[in-house]
Amino acid sequence: MPSIKLPDVARFIVIGGGVHGLSAAWHLAKELTAKGDQPDVIVLEKAMIGAGASGISGGIVRNYYRSEAMTEVISESVGIFESDAEGFGFHQVGYLAVVPEAQREDLEAIAERQRAVGFESELASGASDCREYLEWLWPDVNSDGVKAVLHEKRSGWADAIGTVRNLARKAREAGVQIFEGVEVTGLDYSGSEVSAVITSAGTIRCEAVLAAPGLWAPQWWAMQGLDPVVTLGEGDEAEQAPLTEYWLAREGDYVLPGVGLAGNAGRAAPVVHFDHTEPLYSDRDGELLTDQPWGIYFRMGMTGGGIVGGGLPLKMGPDFVVDPYGPDNPEQVAGDDLSEFFTSGLAFALKRFRGAGDKWDSNPNGGVLALTPDRYPVADWTGPNVYSILDAGHGFKMLAVGREAAREILGHRSSPLLEPFRLSRFGGGTTHVVSKSPYPWT
Ligand SMILES: Cc1cc2nc3c(=O)[nH]c(=O)nc-3n(C[C@H](O)[C@H](O)[C@H](O)COP(=O)(O)OP(=O)(O)OC[C@H]3O[C@@H](n4cnc5c(N)ncnc54)[C@H](O)[C@@H]3O)c2cc1C
Repeated sequence: MPSIKLPDVARFIVIGGGVHGLSAAWHLAKELTAKGDQPDVIVLEKAMIGAGASGISGGIVRNYYRSEAMTEVISESVGIFESDAEGFGFHQVGYLAVVPEAQREDLEAIAERQRAVGFESELASGASDCREYLEWLWPDVNSDGVKAVLHEKRSGWADAIGTVRNLARKAREAGVQIFEGVEVTGLDYSGSEVSAVITSAGTIRCEAVLAAPGLWAPQWWAMQGLDPVVTLGEGDEAEQAPLTEYWLAREGDYVLPGVGLAGNAGRAAPVVHFDHTEPLYSDRDGELLTDQPWGIYFRMGMTGGGIVGGGLPLKMGPDFVVDPYGPDNPEQVAGDDLSEFFTSGLAFALKRFRGAGDKWDSNPNGGVLALTPDRYPVADWTGPNVYSILDAGHGFKMLAVGREAAREILGHRSSPLLEPFRLSRFGGGTTHVVSKSPYPWT
């Protein structure tokens, strides 16, 4: 293999070729050119672009978050997907959150916030309005127990690897050099500032560093000598928590021959999040699967009648071994229990899927995510010339974080969009609000 020839010096070094790193690099280069400067930006990626969570993401782009700070960041991010829908493989089919009474208030608050920032959506509240709304979309829907429905018009889903490639293409066109197979292993300091980045292929001097290491946040934290434990809450209620905790997102590709998700008159189905509090029974053998709040999410697949979807994730804890990362690692994919759960949830939601039992062609997959203690990302300075974006397991859709971070680096001004995502929220009593959703990231 030819050895990699790195530059001796680069003004800005971005670590990580996932969506956050690539979006930041693209926008850094664009802003530099706009200011009349050279777009002297490089990306260092230890494997290949999209090798982390970005490349295996389910690609759902939605704005269904209880945290008010998310609504505007995602609205801006959807704008980036809309700016080149074809390039990102963005399917703007809409997004539907379907919830029981316990989550009705959450959904109403989310709808209110979406109205406030001009993110177009429609809310149905109460059993009869929800029934009418859902039956208009799918005559065979089971709307029993559904108490609120939120329909986001600008949301949908995007092709994960297509999005990664499109970001890389845009970054390169803006002047960024991307080096794959180069691992950052250390930092050289001059006083408190990073003067150079040490890599598996040599040392590069730099003016500033932006790291978006995804699941490898603990290693990045260690490299900077930072504490991997943060404080949650204040005073007597304060508790310590690891900054990074791993979860297994359980997803899969499913086909029931001849039966798809299309709605009334063959309409394309929106992406759906279906949460419930009624017991869920197996569509295979009638056994009780859960009597706790549960949820599934689903969308049409890339081709034909396929369905892509998932169920509740599994907590793997802070010590889970991430490498080797990806679907070839049997510890990092969902099993048949997900298939039974997911297809039973679908059969609960849409009558057309009932009694299909083992007729499903099931391919459970998914992948490991890294979450922060309040399940929202961190975007902050972690040194005088070092900026870190820490993922929180649902960042595929958050392309505007990289853009805002790039602007902060260049202007050293604070982006109001990113203010709620600072590290100081831990221990400062300003962590994000927790929803009543059974999911850790809503
Ligand atoms: C199965 C699954 C489904 C998901 N579904 C959705 C969804 O539907 N919608 C959504 O919004 N989000 C979803 N997510 C979450 C989303 O994919 C992530 O939040 C997002 O991709 C994180 O991007 P990132 O750039 O921070 O990290 P990553 O994509 O993990 O990228 C980090 C990169 O940094 C590189 N790196 C790390 N350390 C170093 C180093 N020292 N030197 C050089 N390179 C380094 C890694 O190799 C990696 O490529 C899903 C995730 C999974 C796993």
